Amino acid sequence: MTQAIKRPFDVNAIRDDFPILNQQVNGHPLVYFDNAATSQKPEVVIEAMNRYYRETNSNVHRGAHALSDRATGEFEAARDQVRKFLNAPSREEIIWVRGTTEGINLVAQSYGRSNLKTGDEIIVSQLEHHSNIVPWQILAQQTGANLKVIPINEQVELDMAAFKSLLTENTRIVAVNHASNAMGTINPIKEITRLAHEAGAIVVVDGAQGAPHLEVDVQDLDCDFYAFSGHKVFGPTGIGALYGRKELLDAMPPYQSGGEMIERVSFSGTTFNELPFKFEAGTPAIAESIGLGAALNYLEQFDKAQLKAHEDQLLQTALKLSADVVGLKLIGKAPDKVSVFSFVVDGLHPSDMGTLLDQQGIAVRTGHHCAQPLMEYLGIPGTSRASFAFYNTVDEVEKLFAALQKIVKLFR
Ligand code: PLP
Repeated sequence: MTQAIKRPFDVNAIRDDFPILNQQVNGHPLVYFDNAATSQKPEVVIEAMNRYYRETNSNVHRGAHALSDRATGEFEAARDQVRKFLNAPSREEIIWVRGTTEGINLVAQSYGRSNLKTGDEIIVSQLEHHSNIVPWQILAQQTGANLKVIPINEQVELDMAAFKSLLTENTRIVAVNHASNAMGTINPIKEITRLAHEAGAIVVVDGAQGAPHLEVDVQDLDCDFYAFSGHKVFGPTGIGALYGRKELLDAMPPYQSGGEMIERVSFSGTTFNELPFKFEAGTPAIAESIGLGAALNYLEQFDKAQLKAHEDQLLQTALKLSADVVGLKLIGKAPDKVSVFSFVVDGLHPSDMGTLLDQQGIAVRTGHHCAQPLMEYLGIPGTSRASFAFYNTVDEVEKLFAALQKIVKLFR
């Protein structure tokens, strides 16, 4: 198979693709380091959605006219783009959802409620986002299952020996993230799926932070479900996708019901549509799906390893410069991380830090990052988090540390 020629990595040319980056905030050029919360959108994504509304807008499927046919074609082509992005075996295994949160809720309520019973076990980790905790807590309450938690070590990595000992013949579901939003830790999903499958459990991967930074191949990971959010992979909000193994999806009941997800409705009984439509009740987010397809198409021009190498360089620069900031403590020291730099500074509350950096045009996120159990475990109220994307530059990282030096001097 011939390898398509990739666009050479040129950060300045890439920045020109993202119109929002070129602006002043509080009198300074914007430095956008809140990419783990949501990433910025290239012009091609904005334009794909505008064009759809200007030229194509129509409802999808079953349309008896040209616009509807075109809208359906573009909408389904975007699904194919997602299939390719995840290397899923088939397009039937790609379900449109609003984002990672909805994807996980779908699995919990559809797979979980129909497969779990009292005494069964669900395993999550100490390192999860609330989206990958609360749906499982609710499922446990509904079914009488027990929730178990994989502990972490000092570097904020999963304790894999402890994970092995948590697996029992009652384990039904293991739900972990591909990469942590709060600390950046990359989790060993392949090993987790191997061990979980040996124990007879399925694996649900929260891919919200994996999809933007890592090569995702659901067949290689061998996971049973993988959910991610469009808005974190340079696409729009309100759309994401859930990959599910076909035999599991086939056996699962619908999650939501109404139009689109049915085959035939009568008052004596209703039959459901085939995959993937069985899980897509109501008019879908058409423009957003097309926007996400455009984002994945944009990403495809690049060698993902090159993007990751650039992000690693940004993280390494931050780690090096942080050693010179008095009182700064890095939180989460896993050697294998996506580009998330989470830190606290002695005597400064993270929310004050956020405000002070914002005054210098630097956008970071502060607080518990929707990972309160992790913060509680670490004994801190929260952190300041700079999360880098491939359009960020070393110069911007240096600006962050120049600003931090100023702030620390002011408060010393
Ligand atoms: N999981 C992780 C690791 C996340 O970082 C996020 C969002 O920050 C989510 C889940 C939830 O994603 P969304 O709000 O797009 O559904």
